[in-house]
Amino acid sequence: MKPNFDWKNLSFDYIKTNSNIRYQFSKGVWGEMRKYTSDHIDMHMAATCLHYGQECFEGLKAFKGKDGKVRIFRLNENAKRMNDSAREIFMPEIPKEIFKEAVINAVKLNQEFVPPYESGASLYIRPLLIGTGPRVGLNPADEYMFIVFVNPVGPYFKNGFKPISLLIDRDRDRAAPLGVGHVKVGGNYAASFQSMEKAHKNGYDSVLFLDPKEKKYIDECGPANFFAIKEKTYITPESKSILPSITNKSLMTLAEDMGLKVERRKIELRELEEFDEVGACGTAAVIGPVGRIVDEKFGKTYQYCHDGNPGTISTELYNRFRAIQYGDESDKFDWVTVIE
Ligand SMILES: *Cc1c(COP(=O)(O)O)cnc(C)c1O
Repeated sequence: MKPNFDWKNLSFDYIKTNSNIRYQFSKGVWGEMRKYTSDHIDMHMAATCLHYGQECFEGLKAFKGKDGKVRIFRLNENAKRMNDSAREIFMPEIPKEIFKEAVINAVKLNQEFVPPYESGASLYIRPLLIGTGPRVGLNPADEYMFIVFVNPVGPYFKNGFKPISLLIDRDRDRAAPLGVGHVKVGGNYAASFQSMEKAHKNGYDSVLFLDPKEKKYIDECGPANFFAIKEKTYITPESKSILPSITNKSLMTLAEDMGLKVERRKIELRELEEFDEVGACGTAAVIGPVGRIVDEKFGKTYQYCHDGNPGTISTELYNRFRAIQYGDESDKFDWVTVIE
């Protein structure tokens, strides 16, 4: 099949590709890699992923460069984080070689779905680990499945890199103070749907969560991390309920490389008044420059991007980040896996 998409206008919707990769875990060991063309799974109705939330996932991307080569961004970091999630909800870890083999094969088998360089689009890669063994009593499963599928996605900013708005939700938390907010498990996302919907219904792009214990500190921007720039410092919150974003980690490295100081610490809400630039970061958009944060309950609005454009430091970070992903800038931090 030779797909002929309008690459630039693809959204973040599911698209069927050639094949996906699966591994099964049973009797304490991971089996062989299998390729599937079907995008359905046949599963026991008492599988623990359906009842007790034994599910975790990852999200990473592959990019086609000017040279025609396909580059996968930060594969090893995603492999590590998936195992952090697996351990937290009592699922077996995936050996790093299996994770790598699965992702690389999923990309290779669907090469024609990697968007061309000029489109600014990319191939989203979704690894998924689920408990498939049946349980009625509250216990972890004894069988698991690891799946990797890919999905072409359009550029996040179709009309250029533009400021977004955030609504502070004081009525709900996405994660508990000592819960599972720091790992990428399914339940956290269902728990954020109400807040996201409230933000969208009221005309905001996303939601800003405060710390679940005191509502005094900044936590996360929906499914993205928060960062701010104050003079020559890159500041990002530290909290047990935040998912450690690999984009954020990479931005911290780039910020240091650009001569900025990097601080990971609690950020009080009132500090929002002191920041020069604010951004949301994650795999989907790299950076969503924040133009406005509204705390409706307290009748307060924080404004950034006063001239309508993202700040200079956020813009430089964004441009350098994308340049490394597409292979336009040298991979000096060893972030990229080139598919030969
Ligand atoms: C996936 C995710 C992020 C972003 O992480 P990246 O590794 O940068 O894609 C941030 N917050 C939450 C809650 C997430 O699930």
